[in-house]
Amino acid sequence: MVNFKNNISLLPYNTFGINVKTSSFIHVRKTDHLLNALKKKSFEKILVIGQGSNVLFTKDYPGLIILMDNHGIEIIKENQKEVIVKVQSGENWHQFVLWCLKNNYGGVENLALIPGKVGAAPIQNIGAYGVEIKDVFLSCNTLELSSLTFKEFNPDECSFGYRDSVFKSKLKGKYIITSVTLKLQKYPHKVNVSYGNLEKILKGKKKTIQNIAESVIKIRSSKLPDPKIIGNCGSFFKNPIISKSQLKDLIKTFKEVPFYSHSKDKIKIPAAWIIEKLGYKGYNENKVGVYKNHSLVLINLGNARGKDVKLLAEKIRSKVLDVFSISLEYEVNVW
Ligand code: FAD
Ligand code: NAP
Repeated sequence: MVNFKNNISLLPYNTFGINVKTSSFIHVRKTDHLLNALKKKSFEKILVIGQGSNVLFTKDYPGLIILMDNHGIEIIKENQKEVIVKVQSGENWHQFVLWCLKNNYGGVENLALIPGKVGAAPIQNIGAYGVEIKDVFLSCNTLELSSLTFKEFNPDECSFGYRDSVFKSKLKGKYIITSVTLKLQKYPHKVNVSYGNLEKILKGKKKTIQNIAESVIKIRSSKLPDPKIIGNCGSFFKNPIISKSQLKDLIKTFKEVPFYSHSKDKIKIPAAWIIEKLGYKGYNENKVGVYKNHSLVLINLGNARGKDVKLLAEKIRSKVLDVFSISLEYEVNVW
């Protein structure tokens, strides 16, 4: 059973710490309850949230917010090499990673300490330190909002991309993910420590999944603001992907530009470097700031309004376009 609540504050439900209201709200602890609730009442606008660590509310929400809080981790199948695990969408992502480490299941260790819930992980194909959820993803179960029927999506149907999927583009807001099924490895694991300084941080330590996760947690804790203390949604912008010819032009003016190969003819530029180059690192206005240790992270300096966060984001975007001729895309979902 779920209770519909009206006119409630979303402050506890978004890590930016924005105080807006929603007209209606339900807290879903079981998948069956979700279907029953949506059959009972219909809404023109519906938004599902997990931990609210990738949403920015710029105004009150004029519809139903659904908070997914359904729990359960189930082993569906296993053999000597692999294990297939079905995880309910309301499980906390990092707690799930810890569960994998405890059971010695490999594949998600590089994704340790990413905030949010399991149901949101495929939405932007969460990624960090050279690994994305698509690397272990088998399928997800969903409820289609228009028909109230359940549909399973396989990896091809999810069209995973860089911080992207069909659920963030063509099918945005049309499906609620109720569970995610992942294929993990048993020992010996195929680990990935090729990213940045991960190998260096591991130093003489064995490259076990537990040590990799520990290193990732250490680096992340030193660089990123804890949303419990400073409101934020992690990277506000995606790293731009540009063509090789654009890079050639860029290097003419900025010889030192860092870049990484993205695909055969595309290059990824760290947006944090661009923003820092423009002098925004540590900048603040209207209770909104650019984090001093990481210029891709916009922060709430206390009682900021969502629309002021968006104003600063737009200011940065337009400056980047002027100086670098690069159009930055929001990674955060802005409402
Ligand atoms: P929410 O913010 O609640 O929702 C995000 C979007 O997904 C919304 O559009 C929402 O409608 C939709 N959604 C949520 N749940 C469901 C569901 N069950 N079904 C359908 N749609 C749903 N992201 C990375 O990829 N890599 C990182 O390394 C990373 N680091 C971060 C560090 C910090 C400090 C913070 C604050 C954020 C970081 N993020 C990172 C972003 C964020 O953690 C992820 O995007 C995460 O998956 C969001 O989960 P959530 O439950 O908070 O989603
Ligand atoms: P970083 O190591 O300072 O590097 C800056 C950017 O350069 C990263 O965003 C990364 O792109 C890219 N990069 C660095 N080394 C790379 C390599 N060897 N191969 C390909 N790309 C490389 O980055 P950071 O900000 O501290 O973040 C570390 C990791 O955590 C990154 O993967 C980042 O995406 C992730 N993270 C994400 C968020 C978020 O909210 N989305 C927040 C914090 C951290 P990629 O982003 O493509 O990896």
